[in-house]
Amino acid sequence: MGFFDKIKKAFTGETEEVQTPEEVEVQQKYEQGLEKTRKTFGERMNELFANFRTVDEDFFEELEETLIGADVGFDTAIKITEALRQEVKLQNVKKPQEVQNVIIEKLVDLYESEGVDEVNALNVQPEGLTIMLFVGVNGVGKTTSIGKLANQYREAGKKVLLAAADTFRAGAIDQLVVWGERAQVEVVRGKAGGDPAAVVYDAVAKAQEQQADILLVDTAGRLQNKVNLMNELEKIKRVIQREVPDAPHEVLLVVDATTGQNAMVQAKQFKETTDVTGLVLTKLDGTAKGGIVLAIRNELHLPVKLVGLGEGIDDLEPFEPNDFVIGLFKGLLKEE
Ligand code: GDP
Ligand code: MG
Repeated sequence: MGFFDKIKKAFTGETEEVQTPEEVEVQQKYEQGLEKTRKTFGERMNELFANFRTVDEDFFEELEETLIGADVGFDTAIKITEALRQEVKLQNVKKPQEVQNVIIEKLVDLYESEGVDEVNALNVQPEGLTIMLFVGVNGVGKTTSIGKLANQYREAGKKVLLAAADTFRAGAIDQLVVWGERAQVEVVRGKAGGDPAAVVYDAVAKAQEQQADILLVDTAGRLQNKVNLMNELEKIKRVIQREVPDAPHEVLLVVDATTGQNAMVQAKQFKETTDVTGLVLTKLDGTAKGGIVLAIRNELHLPVKLVGLGEGIDDLEPFEPNDFVIGLFKGLLKEE
């Protein structure tokens, strides 16, 4: 059974796979988080279908624009439309309504094929210290995501430490300290305006001393000066690698889903600046730009590893491609 058929069965509740209560809860979180995206996308599609009586070239052009407007990415929109042109010819489809399912099928197929070999799980070492670096521009949700993740690992029985290496603003350090209290984990901090690498040095030493399992490092991401940023991140990495040669085990770029194409631009720039191992996509709740995940996977080939679905401490989930696709398209498939 193909991926699309599996998804379709899940849409209609025909799936034979038994879900645990936890899995059901996660899926519901995704569905709620993606509600705005789904509604907006659905409305745009319905408008498109209402405006056209035949599947002609004008229809395809309008479809292309609708998809671009839904933030699935430019290349993806072109690819989908092209695949649809072929399919429509092949199946001799004339009514726009008949192509709705095919559009979703093509989106899901492309999404799956671009994600082959993608590892969405975080690289946590079975033994010894795991170090994760969080990078990204101001306000995207680095500190918040670190706090949420720290809480999850602490609840799972791991010893967690945080490093306040965003020393650029005093407020940034205090904010991490507040999250440390919420998550009940210790924060290693230095002076505001101090050297971030020195804070990381102290944090690694402390983590080793305490035999911690996880060290999460908060950094400042000032993209205004790419060279400075690169140098700073390289310095932090060198300090880490002197003590733990195979670290950092993750360099997670945090991007804000509500910024749509801007998040794509940031991801491209950071990818050129440092070895990003995965993405944290925040604020998926409350945005209609959830289609950005399709663009990220199809065009950047960076795995999304975590998604932020709210401001609360429990609102961070490992990225589940299936749950995401179901959350995105549920209710849009037409009964045949
Ligand atoms: P940083 O500058 O990258 O460290 O960003 P912060 O962690 O300070 O977050 C900036 C704002 O985004 C805060 O008001 C957070 O509450 C909010 N935020 C972070 N993640 C999410 C999310 O997944 N959903 C929502 N709705 N808000 C979020
Ligand atoms: Mg911060």
